[in-house]
Amino acid sequence: MTKPTWLNLPADHLFGIDNLPYGVFSFRRGPARVGVRIGDHVLDVGAVAALGGDPGEGPNLAATWSNPSLNAFLSLGRQTWTLAREWVVEILTEDVHRAGVERHLYPLDDVTLHLPIEVADYVDFYASQHHATNVGRIFRPDGDALTPNWKHLPIGYHGRSGTIVVSGTDVVRPSGQRRPPSEPTPVFGPSIRLDIEAELGFVVGGASAIGEPVAVDDADDHLFGVVVLNDWSARDIQAWEYVPLGPFLGKSFATTISAWVTPLEALASARVALPGQDPEPLPYLRGSGTAAYGLDIHYEVAVNGTVVTRPEYRDMYWSPTQMLAHETVNGASVRPGDLFGSGTISGADPGTRGSFLELAWNGTEPFALSDGSTRSFLEDGDTVTMRAWAPGPSGGRVGLGECVGTIRPAR
Ligand code: MN
Repeated sequence: MTKPTWLNLPADHLFGIDNLPYGVFSFRRGPARVGVRIGDHVLDVGAVAALGGDPGEGPNLAATWSNPSLNAFLSLGRQTWTLAREWVVEILTEDVHRAGVERHLYPLDDVTLHLPIEVADYVDFYASQHHATNVGRIFRPDGDALTPNWKHLPIGYHGRSGTIVVSGTDVVRPSGQRRPPSEPTPVFGPSIRLDIEAELGFVVGGASAIGEPVAVDDADDHLFGVVVLNDWSARDIQAWEYVPLGPFLGKSFATTISAWVTPLEALASARVALPGQDPEPLPYLRGSGTAAYGLDIHYEVAVNGTVVTRPEYRDMYWSPTQMLAHETVNGASVRPGDLFGSGTISGADPGTRGSFLELAWNGTEPFALSDGSTRSFLEDGDTVTMRAWAPGPSGGRVGLGECVGTIRPAR
């Protein structure tokens, strides 16, 4: 258990001393730089490090944290991340640092939060058995719900890193081709089946070389932390385009991530066993001991203030370490700032489904919002808010950042 911070936060604060997520912020006209969230403040860690006494015997963290993204910090690797975290804990808990540090705290309400990473490569997986089964039942009612490969490898596709946006960014309804069920040929226009996918995003740090896979056992050295991720999906565009090469324009128009990256260290108490893998995967996906793990992270998804679903990340079939090992097993390298999404988080219970497609069962069972309206898919003006939290080390909770987006009309 970490000693309390001199900020005297309530014990149940979601952003207490056991959390300390990283982000990128700016204050007034100042430069965007790295900050650490504590309570309802952002700490300008680079400014404090510049005062001297920063933990880096090698890397100059004051300079690293003056960048407008976390990428330079991500490139430094696990050992430096751990040292940095220990130092941030020390300056926020030891009274001797208080006077020097306090001047570099900014109220959250007074700063602008930016996209925390310059996203290098982006991959999206499909790691929930319940989501894959639901989608299979909806789209292939006469076939097997799961494809033959599903339990042998974490299925994924390469997405578009340049359209990943920070929480709070509006999302313009995409236009594209779709084929109405009654028509033989496609039409063009705004998507009429715009959806969400509640996911966990994994931020990758450290680099690997081309030709050298990252093993399951070593994957944690490359997993810096997590974000809440909404993989906006135009189901009508997706359904028409995806055979045989997978998602393309139906998902590339926008993906929203939370402004805060929660370090993996803050999720130590959230590690749980996977729900079970049968058949046993091939050796390169096994790992030893607890190298393949699940995470106990609770989600809440609200539409215009009405909570519509509560997915549980612990239901996911594949471990993040298995996903990273699979992503690199062919020799593909990773770079600092790589990001991969878990895939939609859905459980067996209907109240834990992570997409509108499943919640309203392909439009056949619309769900109600508190204003009396119903939804099968998103309408213009709808605001989607995803929140998540994990158990902390001392009975408290570790909050993940919010992931918020509002739909604007097609242009
Ligand atoms: Mn997805």
